[in-house]
Amino acid sequence: MRYVSTRGGARPLAFDDVLLAGLAPDGGLYVPREWPRLTAAQIADLAGRSYAEITFRVLRPFVGNAIRADDLEALVADAYAGFGHEAVAPLKQLGPNDFLLELFHGPTLAFKDYALQVVGRLFDHVLRKKGARVTIVGATSGDTGSAAIEACRDREAIDIFIMHPRGRTSEVQRRQMTTVLSPNVHNIALKGTFDDCQDLLKAMFADVAFRDRFALSAVNSINWARVAVQVAYYVASAVALGAPRRRVAFTVPTGNFGNIFAAHAARRMGLPVASLVVASNRNDILWRTIAKGDMSLSEVEPSLSPSMDIQVSSNFERLLFELWGRRGKATAALMTRFRAERRAEIPPARLAALRAGFAAGRCSDEETIETIRRVHQRTGELLDPHGAVAVHVAGIARGRRDVPMVALACAHPAKFPDAVERATGIRPALPARLADLHERRERVSVLPNDLRAVEDFVAARARMR
Ligand SMILES: *Cc1c(COP(=O)(O)O)cnc(C)c1O
Repeated sequence: MRYVSTRGGARPLAFDDVLLAGLAPDGGLYVPREWPRLTAAQIADLAGRSYAEITFRVLRPFVGNAIRADDLEALVADAYAGFGHEAVAPLKQLGPNDFLLELFHGPTLAFKDYALQVVGRLFDHVLRKKGARVTIVGATSGDTGSAAIEACRDREAIDIFIMHPRGRTSEVQRRQMTTVLSPNVHNIALKGTFDDCQDLLKAMFADVAFRDRFALSAVNSINWARVAVQVAYYVASAVALGAPRRRVAFTVPTGNFGNIFAAHAARRMGLPVASLVVASNRNDILWRTIAKGDMSLSEVEPSLSPSMDIQVSSNFERLLFELWGRRGKATAALMTRFRAERRAEIPPARLAALRAGFAAGRCSDEETIETIRRVHQRTGELLDPHGAVAVHVAGIARGRRDVPMVALACAHPAKFPDAVERATGIRPALPARLADLHERRERVSVLPNDLRAVEDFVAARARMR
């Protein structure tokens, strides 16, 4: 299996090199040269298997010969062994043919754990075989940092440095990062804002001598391996609901378009998907793109579902590449125009193809609160605000009643207790395995908003040869 860049200017690579590269050197994103297929018999054969087994079977064609099958199988089994639910990604029924896919049973209670727990182990495995190391650096406003830290902690070939803006994350978010005391984990509380953290991160990557000396890398959501691992929960839930005999629809709370692109990949592999629905909050560029062909940027507005407060959905480029006939040069021209003019129009024929594959809906903060309240009253389930956006949009976009609709719950309600309490009067508790979070010891270094200070800090601690 080989991967090509969406901008057509990079040499095709195998899975292990795509994993380590992240972004392609021409600025594009890697996609499989052709989609692997799961036959109906192979899908049927997944029924009754464990989540780890299903993930292994879905991931294997994407990995190809880059990793030995028995190594991959062991690594995936290890990744999900510590999850807080026997089913790993359980389905809950909310209505006659309406389901919730719970993706918050990982170590940091957000769906990013499902991909990152595997990706951290893949990095470590591939690096050790190549006799190499990396220094992962990242900036977080709160949520992604902890998932990355949990994925990389105690990994032999990795050191990880995560910057967060000092005093500007929630207590739970900070503690989920700073109470990880593994020697290869380094938390930096920066005296600045999240934008300052991001600017410093960019400056570190732009410092070529520094970047090369410490083999800087990132585990952000454009990494193909993250998308590939996420395909598994679409396949697993569809099989549980009767695939390949029965078609299933999904509604996905969307930010960077990574999660829903994994659903699209599942469909391309042969999973019988009836429809895919993009759910947005008030930051609705994807809704406007799909409804009107109008891909124009506006300012990011804060909402109750902050992980979806995004205007440029980086993974959308992977879909544009397909809509433009997998022509890299045309995709590159489109992206350059979009960046320069802050808008692009999707021509009618391509818009029709986009709409054939995706529906879209929006959800305001008021509707988010109302949905949390209504679902709790009717079913007793507590939704987090992102899951509520999905459930609200799923209700609007619902097509045929005989097709099961699965809305994705991407965060545990205890990660967003204020919104849940406002809607229901109940302050959701952290699960038992995190109940002592507020008593755990923290380790964090406070640094000034200064590139030299941060680089010196990294240089003193990264275990490079
Ligand atoms: C990251 C995240 C999203 C957005 O997912 P994308 O893959 O970026 O579209 C939605 N909800 C929650 C809770 C998240 O953490």
